[in-house]
Amino acid sequence: MTLNGHSLIAGEAIAGTSGTSFGIDPSTNAKLEPEYTLVSEDQLKVATEAAAAAFESFSTLEPERHARFLESIAANVEALGEELVERASAETGLGAERLRGERARTVNQLRLFAAVVRRGDFRGVRIDPAQPEHTPLPRADIRLRQVPLGPVAVFGASNFPLAFSVAGGDTASALAAGCPVVVKAHNAHPGTSELVGQAVVRAVRENDLHPGVFSLVYGAGTSIGQALVADPAIKAVGFTGSRAGGVALMRTAAARREPIPVYAEMSSINPVFVLPGALGGDVETLARQYLASVTGSSGQLCTSPGLLFVPAGDDGDRLAEAVAAALPGQPGQTMLTPGIASSWQEGFSALEAVADVELLARGQAGPTENAPAPAVFGADVETFTANPVLHEEVFGAASVIVRYKGAEDLAAAARTLEGQLTASVWLADDGDLATAAALLPVLEGKVGRIIVNGWPTGVEVGHAMVHGGPFPATSDSRTTSVGTLAINRFLRPVSYQNVPQELLPAPLQDANPWHVNRLVDGAAENG
Ligand code: NAP
Repeated sequence: MTLNGHSLIAGEAIAGTSGTSFGIDPSTNAKLEPEYTLVSEDQLKVATEAAAAAFESFSTLEPERHARFLESIAANVEALGEELVERASAETGLGAERLRGERARTVNQLRLFAAVVRRGDFRGVRIDPAQPEHTPLPRADIRLRQVPLGPVAVFGASNFPLAFSVAGGDTASALAAGCPVVVKAHNAHPGTSELVGQAVVRAVRENDLHPGVFSLVYGAGTSIGQALVADPAIKAVGFTGSRAGGVALMRTAAARREPIPVYAEMSSINPVFVLPGALGGDVETLARQYLASVTGSSGQLCTSPGLLFVPAGDDGDRLAEAVAAALPGQPGQTMLTPGIASSWQEGFSALEAVADVELLARGQAGPTENAPAPAVFGADVETFTANPVLHEEVFGAASVIVRYKGAEDLAAAARTLEGQLTASVWLADDGDLATAAALLPVLEGKVGRIIVNGWPTGVEVGHAMVHGGPFPATSDSRTTSVGTLAINRFLRPVSYQNVPQELLPAPLQDANPWHVNRLVDGAAENG
């Protein structure tokens, strides 16, 4: 596939007129060809206006065609083969195996959303038939369904160049909802973005859809990204990235004449609570698993465990010692960008500078300039609660082991946490169950996913998954950015009162031509 270095606006490759940038190979810091041209605000406008023009036909697409479109994207991404893996690896430093797994996740989630579209439950159809005899007043015929919000702006994540980027979870769920999408390419993986963008454009053509259904634009976040969110044609935003970037977009969206929702997934340190009974077994295995979770993908996972709470005393010490013994052999891996590697270094230095925080162990520096040695620190629970630095995400392979004295200490520490994507609890015996019973309600108020006897990394894409949580994990804790529930972010309910059958949308008609499951007079009815 030829990389043109241009944006893909409503099906056309358009050379941007506002400067250029290059992808960077983080293992060498060398520029990667081709040069990418950046769009002007006028060129961006062509993309958003085309998205608005595509909305009417796309949002009313019949389910089978709609689902086939998502499946075409999946097939076209798969057909990119090893070229996609090689380019993504060169741009991100991530290994081929990891990227193949991520590609599988990307196409599987597109196919999962195709199944959601065919089934139609997401339309949330409810029918309250008329009740002329209803007292004190007759009841009108009222029918409800969820409708798509309108064009969605998507900001891809640096750490998932496939599964959270151009055709990733935000795009898949927005397209499944019936919303056209304008993606702001992440400047850390421009070639990967273009390859996937071309695959989506082909799917739009193959399915004979309005070309405005999808555009991919290159430009700086602070200029083009901001202009995209401020554009009146855009009705919602999906974002994964830094807290600063997400908050800047939330502000822009809230300050618009018509404010719009921003679904930003930002910052989480994913605490793991090890209860005393869990240390009765094989502590070395626990230590190895913890380090695998901390260092996997160079720690650049949104669910990487940044905190491990262990009991003060001999058992907790044994775990900390096992970690300290296992880490030194582990090499650092190249991080996604030179900027992310230098942010990691700043985070490491900030932790190191906190009084009473001890550097327990370090791995080895990796083979490249952007591959710092992983680090594990130690602190007691008082130091943890008193120092905001220990509550902040250090994006990359760094974690802090916090020693607590008892169950109350643990729940008190948990209460001081900011919102998180996950919290994990390791437990084994009845004493642990009592401690966990007190801890879980606290955690429920802080996180989107509670895990028992497992590690937070590795997020299943399914129907029951929540990848969300209170701020700053996300900007809106009522939803998720992974799993089929993510579609709800881009929908809103509309009621139709006394509307004649001929004017009702298909899923609301008595004949139910789309065979959608519905709630009729409060009772479930299969389609
Ligand atoms: P980022 O700097 O927030 O960038 C994400 C996207 O948002 C990029 O397209 C960026 O544009 C754009 N952007 C950034 N600031 C913006 C602003 N003020 N206004 C409008 N758009 C803006 O995130 P990143 O580069 O992917 O990673 C950097 C940091 O994000 C990491 O160190 C980590 O802390 C955090 N992170 C967290 C997660 C998570 O899941 N929790 C995942 C990834 C990253 P440009 O292309 O111009 O930069």
